[in-house]
Amino acid sequence: MSTSKRLNSDRLETQFKDFKPALDRAEATEEAQRCINCFDAPCIKACPTGIDIPKFIRRIGSNHVQGAAKTILDSNIFGLSCAECCPVETLCEGACVYNDLNHKPITIGKLQRFAIETAYDASMEFYKPGKASGKKVALLGAGPASFAAAHELRIHGHEAVIFEKSEIAGGLNTTGIAPYKMRAEVSLREVERILKMGVKVEYGKELGRNVDLNKLVQEYDAVFLGLGLGADSKFDAAGADHPRVTGAVDFIAKMKTCQASELAWMKNVKTALVIGGGNTALDACRELKGLGVEQVVVSYRRGEAEMSGYKHEFKWARQEGVDFWFHTLGGCRWPGNAYRDHTDVERRPGFSGDRPGKAGVVADKNDWFEIRKGPPAGRTQDGPHGARENICRWRLGQWRNGSRQRSG
Ligand SMILES: Cc1cc2nc3c(=O)[nH]c(=O)nc-3n(C[C@H](O)[C@H](O)[C@H](O)COP(=O)(O)OP(=O)(O)OC[C@H]3O[C@@H](n4cnc5c(N)ncnc54)[C@H](O)[C@@H]3O)c2cc1C
Ligand code: SF4
Repeated sequence: MSTSKRLNSDRLETQFKDFKPALDRAEATEEAQRCINCFDAPCIKACPTGIDIPKFIRRIGSNHVQGAAKTILDSNIFGLSCAECCPVETLCEGACVYNDLNHKPITIGKLQRFAIETAYDASMEFYKPGKASGKKVALLGAGPASFAAAHELRIHGHEAVIFEKSEIAGGLNTTGIAPYKMRAEVSLREVERILKMGVKVEYGKELGRNVDLNKLVQEYDAVFLGLGLGADSKFDAAGADHPRVTGAVDFIAKMKTCQASELAWMKNVKTALVIGGGNTALDACRELKGLGVEQVVVSYRRGEAEMSGYKHEFKWARQEGVDFWFHTLGGCRWPGNAYRDHTDVERRPGFSGDRPGKAGVVADKNDWFEIRKGPPAGRTQDGPHGARENICRWRLGQWRNGSRQRSG
């Protein structure tokens, strides 16, 4: 059995400061005492893991941190990760009754972090493996889903063996979370505690390559599939294979786990373009800003209202100086060809306005990308896109911004 890859100490994510710094004991107690312990607590209903929030807050308020941590972990063994990276603004804190009273909601995430960090720093243990049941379960994928299931299985005395295709544990919780929210070591800290329960992990074992599902079904009493969402969607446009065009998930994983030298090219990047309007795009643009990229632009094919990314993340990104272009059309110049009209762009596979994840840029053979900042598709303004369309020509590392007449 191999061991999980260690994190590189000079990885780029270590440059980020904590966006939501931890509370100290006095602050936590004061904040906990603000909670009015609602009878029909809306914060619990809004929590996907159903943590008894007023109960753990009450325990912090009475200085019973161990009890607070246990309350959290009984519902969610990844209570520390979730305290740091859950979108609390739209979940528990968004549901807190204080919002209706025009007061700041209870900072539930920070209180949760305080309880678990304090307990873990004091090496408090909460669970033990149960009496051996003689049963064994194979779990595919070493992300939070499999680890949480494996923890529960160990409590009940079942053997739990995880098969992971990569060399690192924790799945996207380790490799995907924006570092200003949570660093990879927090995910691994929680994984370590679960491993101590006797969970085994086989790294470099991929279902469909060197792991056979039928064999697992025969050898184990049950098989759990915790494979995550699968491969990143591909940017289906000419130029997508340019060395400086990268998928966001891959870029974030490198920043969070690899040596800084693997992203050495980032040092000279002054401008960056992020394509898409979801949460990964919002994370990526804020990460680029945090790494010191001067000009970061998010290009999204629809309007602000249609963006699927969280509103609070969008607001923060703007505050941090990220520029947003809405209703951008994809590539306006085919490689080697003259600039075409909008109808052609929309007809071209990969640029339909209704295909998610396919907003685009096109690189011509000189490595220029062009983005058209026009009015929304279908809306007229001096013609299909307006007589004066704003074209941004983009070459990674530099750009020009200007108006230009359609030429084709
Ligand atoms: C960029 C990004 C940012 C995110 N930010 C947040 C956030 O701020 N807050 C939040 O709450 N959530 C966030 N998420 C979502 C969160 O990371 C996921 O919901 C969570 O990791 C899902 O856990 P999982 O165990 O189901 O899958 P994953 O974490 O995806 O783990 C699946 C595991 O299975 C392995 N695997 C895949 N295929 C195979 C195979 N064939 N054989 C063996 N192993 C395999 C993978 O290598 C991986 O280790 C983010 C996701 C991304 C992509
Ligand atoms: S809704 Fe707010 S005040 Fe009410 S129990 Fe939850 S955290 Fe406390």
